[in-house]
Amino acid sequence: MTLSLNWSIKRITTKFEFKIARSAESYYDVVILKLSDGINTGYGEAAPSTRYEKGPEVILKLLVQHKNQILVLPLEDYEKRQDALEQMFPDSYALQAALDIAFWDLYGKQTGKPLWQIFGATKELVTSSYTIGISDLNVIPEKIREAAPYPLLKIKLGTDYDYDIMQAIRAKTDKVLRVDVNEGWKTLDDAKRGTEWLVQENVEFLEQPMPADQLDDIAKLREFSPLPLVADENSVRLEDIPGLVGAYDGINIKLMKCGGLSNALKMVELSHKHQFDIMLGCMVETSIGISAMSQLGSFARWLDLDGNVLLVNDPYIGVGNEAGEIILHDKPGLGVELR
Ligand SMILES: [Mg+2]
Repeated sequence: MTLSLNWSIKRITTKFEFKIARSAESYYDVVILKLSDGINTGYGEAAPSTRYEKGPEVILKLLVQHKNQILVLPLEDYEKRQDALEQMFPDSYALQAALDIAFWDLYGKQTGKPLWQIFGATKELVTSSYTIGISDLNVIPEKIREAAPYPLLKIKLGTDYDYDIMQAIRAKTDKVLRVDVNEGWKTLDDAKRGTEWLVQENVEFLEQPMPADQLDDIAKLREFSPLPLVADENSVRLEDIPGLVGAYDGINIKLMKCGGLSNALKMVELSHKHQFDIMLGCMVETSIGISAMSQLGSFARWLDLDGNVLLVNDPYIGVGNEAGEIILHDKPGLGVELR
């Protein structure tokens, strides 16, 4: 079976500027892969985050350099394939993820099975949250209106006006909130103060309150905080997990950080072993990336898979999202098509 691989860059635009503690963007360039056996096509996506690696142009160069090696990777032995991908692309886990996803999609299509079934998961998923990025206070009412169908909101904080943001949100909604600080609180005192008033705001958990390299402070915050703490910038890959015991209650796993579905599966297993709650998250991604992570959705306590519904121009159709309920299909592979 001879494989062929095509790639292109797609620009995806968000409905609102997507601002978090360290960055603000209105569009993202993602790399879309199509891996074909002549009959079936597997889709993959790399949505590289500048927090972790370089941009899409570097990914295109790597694809050109390594195309021949990629085309002979094993379709069925995913562990061997992932080892090879890590050797080939040690600095781009988004590219590893794109290729791993494309190979899995093609495998699913060849075998006629949806990936969730192949992974031993089910279609029973908890409700996903919808993200409200950092914004000027006068834009918050519009954002809360836009989020009206979604019962669970994830609020980005980590500014010098966090308290005002929360007040503006609470003036408009009493929904359950999750808070993601994206490493924005730099001292333990700031983090303790923030936690103290968030406890009174019907917040479910607090994600990455402090910089990843201040793990000792985060462990101290956890002793103090009634809110569960969830790692994100601290839980990049499999090998990070054991070191987070004592500092966090939960682990946010993302395909673009860990290198794809094969590694995410291993992270799920290891997180369970260490008794962490699992959250499955995403970058701003098309329905390819979101549909991929959704295949593992039933393994998670919390889902934050809204990257595609934040877009104005998702080029693909995959899993559904009806008011935060992710709908998995019985179509083979990822179940993704061009819109
Ligand atoms: Mg996060």
